[in-house]
Amino acid sequence: MRKQKFNTIKCPQCGREYLPAEIYVPFAFFGKPKRIVRDIDQSILDHEGSNMDLKERYICDSCNTTFDVIANISFKTRVNEKYNFAKDYQTKIKPSITMPENWWWFLKFEKLILK
Ligand SMILES: [Zn+2]
Repeated sequence: MRKQKFNTIKCPQCGREYLPAEIYVPFAFFGKPKRIVRDIDQSILDHEGSNMDLKERYICDSCNTTFDVIANISFKTRVNEKYNFAKDYQTKIKPSITMPENWWWFLKFEKLILK
């Protein structure tokens, strides 16, 4: 089996690797906010419920060492241009064909070839 690259957590004592889902509880990790209060600029002022809990304590299954894990996460966003309906729609068309000044001669020539 080919070794794949995963986003793992390593025991600082023995190096045993864990997947984040083995250590973190998803609902605790992301928190459970309720009644989110935003100002007029849509910035979050406050909420009820729990915040994200990025710290976890775990006892290694291999060497029994107790270690702490602190997740360091960030989120990147960007506008998806395909589904951005706020922007005017533009249809791409082929570049226009420019006809030479003596275009009639080319037509005559094509007819000669076709015959
Ligand atoms: Zn260990």
